[in-house]
Amino acid sequence: MIEHHLDDDMLQQYAAGTLAEGWSVAVATHLALCPACRSKLSMLESVGGYFIDSEPADEAAVSQSWESLKAKIDAGQIDKVVPIKKGSWSDHTYPQPLRTYIDAAGGLKWRQLGRGAAQMMIPTSDETTTVRLLKIPAGQPVPEHSHRGVELTLVLDGSFSDEVSRFARGDVEMADDSLTHQPKADAGRDCICLAVTEAPLRFKSRFLRLIQPILGI
Ligand SMILES: [Zn+2]
Repeated sequence: MIEHHLDDDMLQQYAAGTLAEGWSVAVATHLALCPACRSKLSMLESVGGYFIDSEPADEAAVSQSWESLKAKIDAGQIDKVVPIKKGSWSDHTYPQPLRTYIDAAGGLKWRQLGRGAAQMMIPTSDETTTVRLLKIPAGQPVPEHSHRGVELTLVLDGSFSDEVSRFARGDVEMADDSLTHQPKADAGRDCICLAVTEAPLRFKSRFLRLIQPILGI
């Protein structure tokens, strides 16, 4: 049972097609595991489509259309669940479309990080994010990693716990630099996560790149 879902803002951007690729990989992977968020996405897409069809919309029309859409959903006239090809993801640790990215990278290739932990970078064409798989041995803390900006962690196998909660397969934790936490894989099973972080700023100027570590940006 998934307890920690995508935040509405991210789902809305995904529905609108404006979410950067790195975050979209995690959103699509969570969607493959989570009927609740698929149903929410389906609703957002219907609302989006309605507004495009009925422009210009004033505020009264907006609230009216929302009410009528909700009524249709409640009456079962709109399919709540986005159809996903059956059998292609449900029993696997790495659901589509994440598997497509892993395949494109030449298959699973773990790089040891020490103390049994490992990672695999997932290449995307999005330069604003870094996407990686992390494998944390059962009972061990997540290795130290730079925590600048927003970080999304999606559990694919096993579970981890931190000061906030416990996160198991399908659960999403959003963290930013205001959150100090020490995630630790739960005992009994290695934890595999998909982690998306904001990429460090990349400056064109060689001088700025040189002094970047000193400035701490
Ligand atoms: Zn969800």
